[in-house]
Amino acid sequence: MTTDLAAFAKKNDVKYFMISFTDLFGGQRAKLVPAQAIADMQEDGAGFAGFATWLDMTPAHPDMLAVPDPSSVIQLPWNPDVAWVAANCVMEGQDVAQAPRNVLRRLIDEAAGEGMRVKTGIEAEFFLLTPEGDEISDPFDTAAKPCYDQQAVMRRYDVIREICDYMLDLGWGPYQNDHEDANGQFEMNWEFDDALRTADKHSFFKFMTKSVAEKHGFRATFMPKPVEGLTGNGCHAHISVWDQAGRKNVFATDKGTGPTGELGLSDKGRAFLGGIMKHASALAAITNPTVNSYKRINAPRTMSGATWAPNTVTWTGNNRTHMVRVPGPGRFELRLPDGAVNPYLLQAVIIAAGLSGVRSDADPGKRWDIDMYAEGHKVRGAPKLPLNMLDALRAYDRDKALKTTMGEEFSAAYLKLKRQEWDSFVSHFSQWEKEHTLDI
Ligand SMILES: [Mg+2]
Repeated sequence: MTTDLAAFAKKNDVKYFMISFTDLFGGQRAKLVPAQAIADMQEDGAGFAGFATWLDMTPAHPDMLAVPDPSSVIQLPWNPDVAWVAANCVMEGQDVAQAPRNVLRRLIDEAAGEGMRVKTGIEAEFFLLTPEGDEISDPFDTAAKPCYDQQAVMRRYDVIREICDYMLDLGWGPYQNDHEDANGQFEMNWEFDDALRTADKHSFFKFMTKSVAEKHGFRATFMPKPVEGLTGNGCHAHISVWDQAGRKNVFATDKGTGPTGELGLSDKGRAFLGGIMKHASALAAITNPTVNSYKRINAPRTMSGATWAPNTVTWTGNNRTHMVRVPGPGRFELRLPDGAVNPYLLQAVIIAAGLSGVRSDADPGKRWDIDMYAEGHKVRGAPKLPLNMLDALRAYDRDKALKTTMGEEFSAAYLKLKRQEWDSFVSHFSQWEKEHTLDI
């Protein structure tokens, strides 16, 4: 593991470091620092004007310092002159409490205090569009049922192979790539890891995918619903909890009793799942963070026949029509998050909700072994997911336990900036309202 960035630069002939942090909207912001200056920067951090960091600061705030975490450094496979390194945000000697990577680090420590080490894998779906972003890049990718389309994935082989080769070189253990359920949509999977590592890899994957797509004359997007009527970009998370040594999966059981035991999920796994279920409506404010996110969940049936996105807070066994799927012993899949999710806040909110569940021995509720798309009307008593971003923000604001576990400073800052975003959206005059109101 790298500890000295100057030595890393020397050994790998790195000319510049991209010192990168993630803001509250999930955007990555960086300074490009020449290798000659990295030793001081590793010590002191790169300076940013607080107001422009989108971490809810004013123009009067002092410099925000992004201090690189050398263990996260990656030499860009497509431009070896440059190395990317994730940074922790510090101001006047203190961690910036609301900075997403700090929120996650604090929650990882809290979980560790209770003997839990959360490991996750994510499935970051994306579309390849034309550079302007208004059409699917492949004009022949028009099949009504495009999932796993062999011909279409091969027409984008140059892009997919290049990204997969890079992941192989980086040691991420990629194991499969496919054309997904929407025209122009792809998914690439790599091995699960500790929550912070997965968050760093998720951030880098987005940066890498966008960069490689640009190199080939395309535009990659993780937008939750970039094309009306087609399946959206999910970012499903597979979650398991291990002992501190990372050897024993404490979610796994072979007892085989009770509604989660039958599926191979221990009592601790059941309570962690219970926390996710209990806080689902509120945590959607994090996992589905944009106006556009709500066009993916709660969506009408797509052209392929299924949205693959949930609309109700339910869980089940190996069945993809629910919010949570328990596909096999010792883990479960949260199918709620979408491509706009902040990589650090995704992991943080999973841990926060799960911890809350373990602390209160939360019951995940009834297991529904039904096809939710066909038989969802039979479900009684399960909450519906928020219908829009404002509903989600209000649900988050009402959920005191989740807000506190995520951190008061974080929650206040996040709600403030996201409400401003909602206000900006509703003040936007749309063609829809003209069409529906002009002749009233
Ligand atoms: Mg998928």
